[in-house]
Amino acid sequence: MNPRRRIVPVFVPHLGCPHQCVFCDQRIISGQTLPVGPDDVREALRSAQAVTAWAELAFYGGSFTAISSDLQNSLLEAAQPFRRSGFLTAIRVSTRPDCIDRECLDRLAAFGVGTVELGAQSMSDRVLAASGRGHLAEDTVRACALLREQGFRVILQMMTGLPESDPETDLYTAKSLAELRPDGVRIYPALVLRGTGLAKMLERGAYRAQSVEDAVNTCAPIVRIFCEGGIPILRLGLHPSWELEDKLLAGPYHPALGELVYSRLYRDEAERQLSARKRLPDEVTILVPVGELSKMTGKGKANLIWLRDRFQLRQVRAAESGDLSPGALAIKGKSE
Ligand code: SF4
Repeated sequence: MNPRRRIVPVFVPHLGCPHQCVFCDQRIISGQTLPVGPDDVREALRSAQAVTAWAELAFYGGSFTAISSDLQNSLLEAAQPFRRSGFLTAIRVSTRPDCIDRECLDRLAAFGVGTVELGAQSMSDRVLAASGRGHLAEDTVRACALLREQGFRVILQMMTGLPESDPETDLYTAKSLAELRPDGVRIYPALVLRGTGLAKMLERGAYRAQSVEDAVNTCAPIVRIFCEGGIPILRLGLHPSWELEDKLLAGPYHPALGELVYSRLYRDEAERQLSARKRLPDEVTILVPVGELSKMTGKGKANLIWLRDRFQLRQVRAAESGDLSPGALAIKGKSE
């Protein structure tokens, strides 16, 4: 369970998914994992009851609405006593955009599911095809409209660095998703995991994996789009785990990728403000909101050193200010 958000995750493996997305390792996992059933749901919720007074149940990992309706019903039914007792405050599922229709939404609503996470991944049909997704961008638009119409909260997931994509295509995806006004987004730079289609493409030279620096450069403007649109970013980069590290062949894996991207955004904003000045002071202090100091300074003060060298300043410092709102930045200068 995630102690901060009290999420009880239940992973629904590949379970008959007819697709084979190039980045997906579910088929590898499914050979080793027992299928999930109602007892797993009950057990996960009972364990959570031992440590918390309330929780949210999340079916992650596969395409929930693509599994058989009998299994969907039994998994959701198993959660109902916990919902009736007040322990379970919400249920969410993740699925594919082309696996949403009125019938499945009626089922989800009847069992108290309030949030649906859609793996949109890209809004470019070329990228979707090259990634073996098996759906089109318009499926995401249609699914969002249906979900909204029926009163669900919608979380959209996107992947950067997929085959046939570039930073412009990924930015286009972010803008298109922001226009759909989701209640939140998750951003995942593509990683190459052992045994996947992407690994084969990498091996034959048909795919170039992004570096961490590439991913930071790609994700920074995407994060800006969502922040400016007031859309919460629930996650940036996959959660670090030893299983992931064990399967990782290539790609922009970093345990604190989000921190790196936010750090880049602070550096960009400081650069913008300094560039706009007619005369530059010798010494600069960059003020950031309380709690954001490490993002501004960057690892090993990398941002401050970069700004000092870029503008040929004698010294660049960073300090916290209680007067600034999140993401804002102010610059004070001192000249001899
Ligand atoms: S839709 Fe793609 S990512 Fe999802 S389970 Fe199927 S193959 Fe994996």
